[in-house]
Amino acid sequence: MKAIVAHAAKDVRIEEIDDAEPGQGEVRLRLATGGICGSDLHYYNHGGFGAVRLKEPMVLGHEVSAIVEELGPGVSGLEISQLVAVSPSRPCRTCRYCQEGLHNQCLNMRFYGSAMPFPHIQGAFRESLVADAIQCVAADGLTAGEAAMAEPLAVTLHATRRAGEMLGKKVLVTGCGPIGVLSILAARRAGAGEIVATDLSDFTLSLAKSAGADRVINTKTEPDALSAYSADKGTFDVLYECSGAAAALSGGIAALRPRGVIVQLGLGGDMSLPMMAITAKELELRGSFRFHEEFATGVDLMRKGLIDVKPLITHTVPLADALSAFEIASDRSRAMKAQIAFS
Ligand SMILES: [Zn+2]
Ligand SMILES: [Zn+2]
Repeated sequence: MKAIVAHAAKDVRIEEIDDAEPGQGEVRLRLATGGICGSDLHYYNHGGFGAVRLKEPMVLGHEVSAIVEELGPGVSGLEISQLVAVSPSRPCRTCRYCQEGLHNQCLNMRFYGSAMPFPHIQGAFRESLVADAIQCVAADGLTAGEAAMAEPLAVTLHATRRAGEMLGKKVLVTGCGPIGVLSILAARRAGAGEIVATDLSDFTLSLAKSAGADRVINTKTEPDALSAYSADKGTFDVLYECSGAAAALSGGIAALRPRGVIVQLGLGGDMSLPMMAITAKELELRGSFRFHEEFATGVDLMRKGLIDVKPLITHTVPLADALSAFEIASDRSRAMKAQIAFS
């Protein structure tokens, strides 16, 4: 079968790799759609991010949907030919954090397509995938593209849980890539009252607007627009920082009201913090990393029509042209989520 394998920066190849047989509790899946994530782009463009570097060839990809092709022994609850969203979260379920229910903090996490551990955890951009049945969430009624959005949606649902009380809150979202726009959808679904979103790209802001942001601000062309929200010690109750850019974080902190909550999702490496403002306004800084049970919740919300991710899928490219999909996805002036159609 073919797989999309990253060797180094700008060296991603479509290669033949071996098939596997499903064992106890496993299923064989025929990949339907794979979404290109920011982390895939970092491997593609830079060979990694921060201290995380490719040290051996790695199959990319963790945002996938698939068709069930074969059930291994002991598998029930899934049907042949069924569309499923495949969670890339594979915690060990035995370490101390798994036992506490903090699966996203698992000490032995095998998250698809990650060069954090060595040997790297091979990813899911492959025509055929053997997965644990419990990773598969039935996606009947969704398109393969929507089902492949379950992973980034789950990231933002987890962040929304980290943010805490949302009903009627004033929310600022900095960075309107897929995670930012999905954060808008998640915050609105959780009852946010007013949502303002910032970015440097008019294209991504237009999608943020149609996703439900009450106001969008291009901080490149309107550099002072956000400062009005800093009056009287600030406006927003919650900041979803999705850009990973220090300037966005400090601008957002200035616009937060006392006792506001910063949820940091953007992975920008180490950033400097305006600690005096955090102290004096008694702000709470909360990290948010991946997800676990929110994956199935996201699929459920999409299936019930309570969250619509379809407008975010701007490009769908066949596997043979997958490399062009990475170029398209890197261009924030025209792409939100680029996906690869495997079949
Ligand atoms: Zn992702
Ligand atoms: Zn664990």
